[in-house]
Amino acid sequence: VEVRNVAAAADRSRVADGGSVPCAVCSAQNVRAFFELRGVPARTSVIAATRDEALAVPRGDILLACCGNCGFIGNQAFDAGLTEYSGRIEDTQSCSAVYSAYLEELAVHIVESLGIRNRHVVEIGCGKGEFLHLLCRAGGNSGTGFDPAFRADRHPCPDDPAVRFVADRFSERYSGTGADLYVSKMTLEHIADVRGFLGMLRRSIGAGSAPLVLFQVPESGRIFREGRVCDVVYEHCSYFTPESLQAAFRRAGFEVLGTRISYGGQHLAIEARPGTVQDCAERPEWLVSLADGFADLCRTRVRSWSAGIREAVAAGRKIVVWGSGSRSVMFLHLSGAEQCVDGIIDINPNRQGSWQSGTGLPILPPESLVDIRPDLIFVMNPIYLDEIRRLLDGFGLQPELVAV
Ligand SMILES: [Zn+2]
Repeated sequence: VEVRNVAAAADRSRVADGGSVPCAVCSAQNVRAFFELRGVPARTSVIAATRDEALAVPRGDILLACCGNCGFIGNQAFDAGLTEYSGRIEDTQSCSAVYSAYLEELAVHIVESLGIRNRHVVEIGCGKGEFLHLLCRAGGNSGTGFDPAFRADRHPCPDDPAVRFVADRFSERYSGTGADLYVSKMTLEHIADVRGFLGMLRRSIGAGSAPLVLFQVPESGRIFREGRVCDVVYEHCSYFTPESLQAAFRRAGFEVLGTRISYGGQHLAIEARPGTVQDCAERPEWLVSLADGFADLCRTRVRSWSAGIREAVAAGRKIVVWGSGSRSVMFLHLSGAEQCVDGIIDINPNRQGSWQSGTGLPILPPESLVDIRPDLIFVMNPIYLDEIRRLLDGFGLQPELVAV
């Protein structure tokens, strides 16, 4: 696995190619590559029905580059053809009480603070529809959710005619849908052509209406400040900080009302409404220097995991990974622990019994820990540590927990 700073190599190839890929937000050409991973699993949220299918997942390269004009960071090697957005995606986190409480809080914020009550809501990238259902129930709203991964057999409220779902990507052909709120959680980071997508959204809203627009993405300042390499996943081709997210919305013709960071610093939300196109070109020096140090931070992290795993194996300790989603796929891929773990645990029953994309490891329910009796558990998200500790207490287990 290569975790290396490729700035120099990328500069050379740019000269050879006669120009790099322009920035997906502002079209500037001064985009500089700073981090590369080759051959990573390209479908980290998809679960597989068999081990062979899980191992046969396509692999792609990541070449992160930072725009010196607007601060947008994107994967210049991204190939959308390698990804899959279908009903086989299983990325709901609602089985966690911590996550459910967070979703409830967000719904209350939208209803109470933003005044979205008895209105129509469009959700772009609604997954299996739990949040739209929640938002409609909390505020007496009606809603339309769009997501190619939606599954009719998992409809959260089939008896409620006010909430409907379209198993398709949102596009201009749905512009007649109209809404008082366009909400989108954890979707924009999957879109390579950010400028094209936000422009399409702005045109879909049209003139004469002023809906609220609320988008949420991973907060990438934290990723790059802390070397959180497991948050760099193939499907995430676009990375935003508060500054670059605001710049992207202003360039697409939105007036930015504010940004919020939540969920232990992991989520970044922007609230906006239709406005005029504004060009903002503040050179994000701090981000450029962060990018320069990122590969070193990642290397240090991966080395420490690998050393911990080697020591544990040598001592005959049993190792388990808690969480089977994107972070888990990347953790196992980067640390080389695929052969060393005694189980991958997931509390989502829709994942249990399936096989983890890329590693081909079986996904087990928490109850299986009673038999495995792990000594060391790598936890993929620190926000779930207390919840996991309580579950383990219930099983009478006291393993060491290490948050990745
Ligand atoms: Zn840019």
